[in-house]
Amino acid sequence: MIISKTSFLTFLDCSKNAWIKIHKPEIFKQYPLSSFEQNIIDTGNNIDVMARSLFPNGVLVESREDTELTDKLIANKTPVIYQPVFATDKFITALDILVWNTDTNVYDLYEVKSSTSSEENGGRKTEDYLIDIAFQKNILDELGVEIGTTNLIRVNKEYVRNGEINVRSFFLIEDVTEEVNAKLGEVKSKMEVASEVISNPKEPVGHCDCILKGKKSHCTTSKYSIPDLPQYPVHAISRINKKKLIELVDNNIFSIFDVPKDFVLSENQRRQVDTAQSDKEYISVNEITDFLSTMKYPLCFLDYETYPSAVPKYDGFKPYQQIPFQFSLHVIEAPNGESVHYDFIYTDTECPDKYFAEALKKHLPDIGSVVVWNQGFEKGINKQIAEHLPEYSEFMDKVNIRVVDLMIPFYGKTTMYDHPKFKGSASIKYVLPALVPHLSYKNMHIQEGGTASDTWNRIVSQEYTDSEKNIKIQALKDYCHLDTLAMVEIWRALYVVESDSR
Ligand code: SF4
Repeated sequence: MIISKTSFLTFLDCSKNAWIKIHKPEIFKQYPLSSFEQNIIDTGNNIDVMARSLFPNGVLVESREDTELTDKLIANKTPVIYQPVFATDKFITALDILVWNTDTNVYDLYEVKSSTSSEENGGRKTEDYLIDIAFQKNILDELGVEIGTTNLIRVNKEYVRNGEINVRSFFLIEDVTEEVNAKLGEVKSKMEVASEVISNPKEPVGHCDCILKGKKSHCTTSKYSIPDLPQYPVHAISRINKKKLIELVDNNIFSIFDVPKDFVLSENQRRQVDTAQSDKEYISVNEITDFLSTMKYPLCFLDYETYPSAVPKYDGFKPYQQIPFQFSLHVIEAPNGESVHYDFIYTDTECPDKYFAEALKKHLPDIGSVVVWNQGFEKGINKQIAEHLPEYSEFMDKVNIRVVDLMIPFYGKTTMYDHPKFKGSASIKYVLPALVPHLSYKNMHIQEGGTASDTWNRIVSQEYTDSEKNIKIQALKDYCHLDTLAMVEIWRALYVVESDSR
């Protein structure tokens, strides 16, 4: 069996998952990629292609299995080779770029990553990349292909677009030869173990290690690997640490409903467990009353959609900086008033910033609370617009001063309202169906922000026909509309709780 770099890296995360990837692909691939995940892959591919222009006029090895063409290109000392493929009897890898160094008379290796250069001085990602390159280098060493330097090409997070993209400034190249060489031995041993485990037709036995990790660590095959995990497991207890999880699992406690009353948890975790076990809501009426009293009419429920373009689309933007392209606004003028809806979406060819700010200024009342969900995001975008467009800085600063975060009553230490169906989450996707069951994202064409963001990018990248484009724009409007309508209805639900207590 020949193991790819991707399978090896999966193995380093979890040997069982890597085995399933190869031997039971129908389970490994049971969930199709979301358009958001596809967008991440597409971004990586685009960045790979862009980085090639740092070393122009190379020859591309199209097929990821074409070792024959690679051998020929290497034998001919082809100056630049894109995506050359090398295989031993156990491993296969496609490199990003090989460049013939006329000073040293050997090839230099360049690995391209679409992440930013925020971790030059270490960090988990850098460590992962060194292992990634060491895997490639070990294969080349075994094949006798001499390599001079090994290099990491990443996106320069400080780059600011001004006209055409300048690839020399957009990318940062780091020589990581020493760091990679220091890892070769360790990675080689791990490659041998990976080969043994993955090539074995017998599935690794034993419990998943994830039984001792929070739900976020569980992989997409966890339902197969840990089939007896209850619907609402102890792993879903918010921010539960490993020590507590081990204590519960060691005592055969897997369901949140079986957590003993005297098991020591933080205040938030205890409230989540009690709420689940009693199937009753937790409501702190006084705190809700105080919170609602901070909101001033007209109430302006506001939500933004943005796109973090890896390659800045417009002047003044940095890599991955969010581009605000859409908002939805529900306004309630006075107590017992109906909500009035406004929206804005930009899908033309220019930078949306100024059109966005202009529309917001036009529709947003001059006074009253600006109600958002998770204030850091909207406030950050407002600050960014203020920096890009000084003529709107005063307006944006004033908007930020008026912001009230509707997530506060449902979040962490400030929780005033908890519900068994929140399952420890303050996401609007959990809060809405629990408090306002008739409203749901479930039947929406777009159901979450990542897909909304990706859809907009595909619209402005002209990937759709005109009629498809119109359908997508409507889907984006419906999605964003529901975000603010959801806030209106959640606010009403809090208001009813407060009024009923009087
Ligand atoms: S749930 Fe965890 S331990 Fe189990 S296969 Fe997935 S990643 Fe591995």
